[in-house]
Amino acid sequence: MEIVHTPAAMSAWSRAARDEGRSLALVPTMGCLHAGHLSLMAAARQRADLLAVSIFVNPAQFGPDEDFAAYPRIFEADCQAAEEAGVDVIFAPDVSAVYPPGFQTMVRVKELTKGLCGASRPGHFDGVVTVVAKLFNIIQPQLAVFGEKDFQQLAVVRAMVRDLNFAVEIIGSPIVREKDGLAMSSRNRYLSPAERQAALCLYQALQWARRQAAEGEQDCGRIIAHLTTAIADKPGVRVEYLEIVDNSDLRELEILTDSARLIMAVRIGRTRLIDNGALFPARDSKIITTQGAT
Ligand code: AMP
Repeated sequence: MEIVHTPAAMSAWSRAARDEGRSLALVPTMGCLHAGHLSLMAAARQRADLLAVSIFVNPAQFGPDEDFAAYPRIFEADCQAAEEAGVDVIFAPDVSAVYPPGFQTMVRVKELTKGLCGASRPGHFDGVVTVVAKLFNIIQPQLAVFGEKDFQQLAVVRAMVRDLNFAVEIIGSPIVREKDGLAMSSRNRYLSPAERQAALCLYQALQWARRQAAEGEQDCGRIIAHLTTAIADKPGVRVEYLEIVDNSDLRELEILTDSARLIMAVRIGRTRLIDNGALFPARDSKIITTQGAT
């Protein structure tokens, strides 16, 4: 496994792979790798000859009061985990290599970023799609795998690829959970034992909503009202948003459909956690792929 730190070295590595006729998959991450990231790598590995993983804590996607400085960075352990996962190259640039002096261009996806995480984290998705566009240009992968854990991010990246004609296939990969249902996240390590327990409210909410859907409840408003109260009743937990949306365009739904998805963000103490899931998982396609127009 190679580790490269500059965009020029990364582009040269990719060019050599292309010249040899080998396909390349990319898994973009902020490091602090866990089983969720590893599942994306496994999905990517199956679909391409070579696998690149980027590790970059992207300052452009953090707000001024967010946890950029505190975000866990464990580069050595990440390299070991990546090597064991069969990664061929790690791209781990410095902030100054990605945003050199004079940097002034941002990419913005307009409509899909207005609600949900986009509403509570202004500018977040501009930072995400800008860095993803840069990674695609530097690395030139044929495909890239993103987790459904960040469902809005996946939709926003798909829109960017479609709208800007990136020749990269976007693969969505299912959420990996702890045994008790908590979605794996690098931020889970911020949680105290009591907060870790309280964090189960997200998965419990999803399971409850799924049961309601299976029993024939159709009114999204009733489901949301019940869950908002149930979660708000937990000590130390604050609901940031809780919505039922359509899988494809994140439009808020009033009546449940086959493509309905519960999507939520809460604050537990100082930690912000997100989760989501299809309300009719059996009717929801597990991995959705989108081909970027060329
Ligand atoms: P991050 O390092 O948090 O920016 O995440 C990098 C990628 O891993 C993103 O595409 C995430 O959606 C994905 N990811 C993070 N946690 C999980 C999880 N529990 N299951 C599946 N994918 C995940």
